Amino acid sequence: MFFRRLTGIFSLDMGIDLGTCNTLVCVKGEGIVLNEPSVVAVHKGTSQVLTTAGGGKAVGLEAKAMLGRTPGSISAIRPLKDGVIADFDITEEMLKYFIRKVHGNRSLGAAPRVVISIPSGITAVEKRAVFHSAERAGAREVYLIDEPKAAGIGAGLPIHEPSASMIVDIGGGTTEVAIMSLSDIAICQSLRVAGDDMDEAIISYMKRTYNLMIGPQTAEQIKIRIGSVAQTDAEGSMEVKGRDMISGLPRKAGIASEEIREALKEPVGAIIDAVLRTLEQCEPELAADLVDNGIHLAGGGALLRGLDLQLAKATGLDVRVVDDPLTCVARGTAEYLEHFEEWRVTMESGDDDL
Ligand code: ADP
Ligand code: MG
Repeated sequence: MFFRRLTGIFSLDMGIDLGTCNTLVCVKGEGIVLNEPSVVAVHKGTSQVLTTAGGGKAVGLEAKAMLGRTPGSISAIRPLKDGVIADFDITEEMLKYFIRKVHGNRSLGAAPRVVISIPSGITAVEKRAVFHSAERAGAREVYLIDEPKAAGIGAGLPIHEPSASMIVDIGGGTTEVAIMSLSDIAICQSLRVAGDDMDEAIISYMKRTYNLMIGPQTAEQIKIRIGSVAQTDAEGSMEVKGRDMISGLPRKAGIASEEIREALKEPVGAIIDAVLRTLEQCEPELAADLVDNGIHLAGGGALLRGLDLQLAKATGLDVRVVDDPLTCVARGTAEYLEHFEEWRVTMESGDDDL
């Protein structure tokens, strides 16, 4: 009896943002305790996770450094890359590793209660896989929450009120566009165009214009350092290294913000279109609310310079980037845990299917 009460008090509740690029874990009362890329290195053709020279597992940061650099016998995999779970076993290994890493560091004994935010476009089968993976990783209770809801909570939006809140969460593999009211999603679109597609657009621009092959990590660095959508004060240029497509030899080239803007036109246009399409489907009362409440941008893609301005121009609405957009969803899952008893009835996702 006494033991049960103790474990109840000390049980470690965690909120997990299972993102296509990054997985974050937030512990109730402690904030974000883990923030690592959603990447796993495995022996090619198997789900067997690679052991690193230090004896640890090649998951997260260590595995990301291997992306594009693996020899034939090893693959570094992003199991959620396109917003779908491409490999269930590897997703499970990753989730287990992260849950155990956070839980193990604390040695509190009791199994954790876990709230996981998942891209809203994933199927019932995929949801079930995430749910059971977390159970097998030792979670006592598992709850799934749709990413836009978690983002709305994390951004401090009044999503429980009978008024529209709109979130555009631009991650790596998916952009989630959602209008919420009364704790639920009124309209939602999950678009498979997001940060990764911007990187790919930069790769193909470099090929087309400079005959230079660059890797995805280099493309991401270009986007983060000098990428923009509209002309801003932060115009810049940088030197890019890769392989010449004609000579086959390594070389470098200089590029400027203006060129990257050109390269990003297509993926950015697709995201803006998705926002416009979602707004068009919106009930008039909710549309009226959005005139006052505006649109909130979350996810790493929200940091692309000038995107807020461009979206404001296209929609005529007020567009704001939420505070710390990369951690917004994770903070939302932890906030959900704080109010767990109050909110769970209205906010769980897809439990009927599980
Ligand atoms: P997910 O939820 O899918 O894991 P995140 O919200 O973590 O994705 O965002 C990751 C994406 O954001 C990546 O494509 C990354 O390149 C992009 N990103 C991160 N910082 C910036 C930045 N400053 N400018 C533009 N894109 C960024
Ligand atoms: Mg995300």
